[in-house]
Amino acid sequence: MHHPTPESTLQHTFGYEAFRGNQREIIDNLLEGGDALVLMPTGGGKSLCYQIPGILRPGTAVVVSPLIALMQDQVESLRQNGVKAGYLNSSLSQQEALQMERAMVQGDMDLIYVAPERLMTPRFQELLSRTPLSLFAIDEAHCVSQWGHDFRPEYMQLAILAEQFPQIPRIALTATADPIVREEMAERLHLTQAKRFVSSFDRPNIRYRIVVKNAPKKQLLDFIEQEHHGDAGIVYCLSRKKVESTAAWLADRGYTALPYHAGLPQQVRAENQRRFINEEQVIIVATIAFGMGIDKPDVRFVAHLDLPKNLESYYQETGRAGRDGLPADAWMAYSLGDAVFLRQMLDSSDGNEQFKRIQHQKLNAMLGFCEITGCRRQALLAYFGETLEKPCDNCDTCLSPVDTWEGTTAAQKALSCVYRTGQRFGSGHLIHVLLGKMTDKVEGCGHENVSTFGIGKELSESEWRSVYRQLVAAALLSVEPQTGGFRLNEKSMTVLKGQEKIHFRKDPSPARKGKKSQARGRASRLMEEVCVAPGARILWDKLKSYRKETAKEAGVPPYLVFNDATLADIIDKMPLDDIELLAVSGIGQQKLSSYGDEILAIIDEHLKDIV
Ligand code: ADP
Ligand code: ZN
Repeated sequence: MHHPTPESTLQHTFGYEAFRGNQREIIDNLLEGGDALVLMPTGGGKSLCYQIPGILRPGTAVVVSPLIALMQDQVESLRQNGVKAGYLNSSLSQQEALQMERAMVQGDMDLIYVAPERLMTPRFQELLSRTPLSLFAIDEAHCVSQWGHDFRPEYMQLAILAEQFPQIPRIALTATADPIVREEMAERLHLTQAKRFVSSFDRPNIRYRIVVKNAPKKQLLDFIEQEHHGDAGIVYCLSRKKVESTAAWLADRGYTALPYHAGLPQQVRAENQRRFINEEQVIIVATIAFGMGIDKPDVRFVAHLDLPKNLESYYQETGRAGRDGLPADAWMAYSLGDAVFLRQMLDSSDGNEQFKRIQHQKLNAMLGFCEITGCRRQALLAYFGETLEKPCDNCDTCLSPVDTWEGTTAAQKALSCVYRTGQRFGSGHLIHVLLGKMTDKVEGCGHENVSTFGIGKELSESEWRSVYRQLVAAALLSVEPQTGGFRLNEKSMTVLKGQEKIHFRKDPSPARKGKKSQARGRASRLMEEVCVAPGARILWDKLKSYRKETAKEAGVPPYLVFNDATLADIIDKMPLDDIELLAVSGIGQQKLSSYGDEILAIIDEHLKDIV
């Protein structure tokens, strides 16, 4: 056998053809003994950056990881590829832990995953001093930042590694796109001198889409039925109650939809998370408490029924879709109510003025993102300081361009109506006044006598709602924190005075009700794109049920046997022997010998069936 190289390890151990992005440079840097700071999006392929040096450098690589679930997943995946990997955490018995420690000290392991709190114990430090070390990898390194959302105090002590083991290369990795968090990370981990590797944060396989919310549950159901029937996905809602009712609604319609929020008993949460990971076709309906530590690669969609507070959260939450690189959707339903609610929340929250100002800017960016008429991906990346040269062709505004309309007069009428009625009311009542509707409230307030009564009959109720939504989103109208009523601000005045021309986004007309959606039937976008050849769908299902049984026997999630990208590549390449199987993405020596014969048998049988 020749001396193993990064390339040969990538091919033989991991079953991949070529390195992606800057993986190779990062690996070389570590092999030469340098430190590294790696900023790469979710699904970009961070793990290989330290796993391959961990395998190639003499000694044991110590990988710091914040969650037991993440460690188990990574270790199991490495073992499936025949790599000597293990973890040390509270899930092991004392006996098992001792065994693992012994193997580590003897240099029998390529990679050991540990929790940060364990790493810092005097006992573990002593073990480390006797272990032949190849490198330290700090995964999810943004956990060290107090500014970020996943702060873990134990991460703060990791800086000590630099002093105690100055000769051992260190690599810290994160998918955070937030520049402040990144800087804090480098400083706290004493990695300001480390070489930085920054990848594009674009997730080209994720299709971004935002629809105007009118019947959210029904819209969600249509979306799932028409594009993700049979797929795994995550649905985010803001409140526990909505989580419960949405999960129940989907379950009533035949989907395996499980709730997840902080109010559920610990066992229920753990069980629902376990099922999401270990089964296929499970939809988790969750508050944002769900997601950290979920490495499931085949999440085909992330749906938001409520708006995230800022684009950082939006990017992070939607980023949980499509880690495997196959087509995935980020879908969101958004309404005037969301815009009002978020503005109201922010204004009534505690916190100093500067904090609030920053939060307002972030919310403005989030709402602006919902209302843009240009490419969403360009806007999202621009927010994080990255330039995408061309529109992406994989977001809603690229796929079906939105129209705009000149709405200066409409905006003036809408604002003027706020003023004439005393700056106390929300959109519902204001729209009645504009349309000249005699409701009890209109009569009670005597608003049939204000000058804006009935001056807006040229637009429909939903068009006025759209106008108010866009005025609030653009902060041309303020929301009273206590009541949620509208009031004018300085920017409203410039509109009223005609100093600013207003262009509104024309909301696409809602899909026609009735038979149409049914006629299209239940479908999965992935299947449509992957299984084009005749009979491919049948083969896909056969391979999937083989994967399911094998995974069950081995007690691991199906995606650790093969992920969907590997299945798709098998269908594309139709391998007929071992050599051809090895060319499939994700099949290396170990998986060939574990599963190769059976896969070839399935293909053979399938070919006989279809001819
Ligand atoms: P991250 O940790 O950055 O989110 P992972 O390391 O989990 O991403 O990688 C995402 C997926 O891409 C995994 O299924 C991984 O095996 C696969 N992958 C990584 N590098 C390559 C490569 N060079 N070629 C093909 N697939 C790769
Ligand atoms: Zn686009």
